[in-house]
Amino acid sequence: MRISYQYKLRPTKQQIGVFESWLDKLRCQYNYLLEQRFDWWEQNRCAINACPLICHLPELKDNPSYYDQKKSLVKLKEDRPWYQEINAQVLQNCVERVHKTMERFLKGDKNGKRSGRPRFKGKGRYRSFTYPQLGKNPISGNLINLSKIGWVKMIVHRPLPEGFVLKTATVSKKADGWYISLSRQDKSVPDFISEVVPTKDNSIGVDLGLEKIVSTSTHESVAPPKHFRIAEQKLSKLQRRVASKPKRSKARAILNRKIAKLHQKIARQRKQFHFETVKWLLSKAEVVFIEDLQVKNMLRRCKPKQDENGKYLPNGQSRKVGLNKSFADAGLSQFVDLLSYKAEKAGLKVIKVDPKGTSQYCSSCLNRVSKELSDRWHCCYYCGLILDRDVNSAILIQKVGMGIASLKNACSASTRARSQRCTA
Ligand SMILES: [Zn+2]
Repeated sequence: MRISYQYKLRPTKQQIGVFESWLDKLRCQYNYLLEQRFDWWEQNRCAINACPLICHLPELKDNPSYYDQKKSLVKLKEDRPWYQEINAQVLQNCVERVHKTMERFLKGDKNGKRSGRPRFKGKGRYRSFTYPQLGKNPISGNLINLSKIGWVKMIVHRPLPEGFVLKTATVSKKADGWYISLSRQDKSVPDFISEVVPTKDNSIGVDLGLEKIVSTSTHESVAPPKHFRIAEQKLSKLQRRVASKPKRSKARAILNRKIAKLHQKIARQRKQFHFETVKWLLSKAEVVFIEDLQVKNMLRRCKPKQDENGKYLPNGQSRKVGLNKSFADAGLSQFVDLLSYKAEKAGLKVIKVDPKGTSQYCSSCLNRVSKELSDRWHCCYYCGLILDRDVNSAILIQKVGMGIASLKNACSASTRARSQRCTA
């Protein structure tokens, strides 16, 4: 089993200087290696319909692979001796990052999901470096030994568990200082696999939303604290002040730091709230059925609308902005990730359920009761059930998850809108 712990570092001024200089050198190297990859890719790709059958083929270059780029580091250290200051494995990790980001761009991750085109990192955008392995007994009291840097003080706010072997250490720069995350592995502790069988009593259905972040099938709900909305005014005031200061001035840098700290505070408040809600939820049941949300799709911008002259028409994006902000403020995907992680750690189970139709059907008689987003109550004309619409959805999610109800023939919101438009 692998777990990671994060501690705040208390480096000396000289150590901060070393951290900063390493990050800048690694950033340059990262950009150079990425450029090498892009070069080869641009020269050697050709769309199948754009390729003539007879053409002159330029001399093919070798694809700069992970190992080739790793080998090039030897030459780099000869040509640019200042790279010798950096720990060799930290430098190799930079190559690995380039490799991973290109792989994710060209081939996708294990689920085949491709990321966007990797970006070159501007000044201050390369914020962490990783030691893939640490020396023997790297921790003594509140000090950690980092190769080529020395003993660095850290705040051990909680003890590291015994019996684990330190795997990697990542030093990262955040708005309020430097942090180190230590990942530890213990092969004798197996990964948690829960074998709980869901029943009506030991399970719970959960509906996620914006008005109530969590509504459960046990008729309970939690309202989102809206940390971003509360701080929004303060933030916009600071941003206005930044805009009035000349570029590269000291005043601008100070204000930017203030903004970064405020964003960090909002993120931490949100995370704290998520931890508390997850704990509360997992104390209620052994199996949690949750809707399988596509948060990324929800945050999409509206498609632009044009008339026949090419003039842009209102497309409802200004209204969507507020909704997107609230989605981002709720942090639903972080909540779902945290719930799955914590459940796994506690030997419990989280099962994702297709949410199709769960807002439009009755949880008691399974008949279709259409409602708009503004209708907050579920009133069934068939069986007379009156319920909060989110609680109705949560009960349905539990039923669908357990296989008691099936909504396979339910149509999605977009199909429904299309059919309504057609009939009108
Ligand atoms: Zn009903």
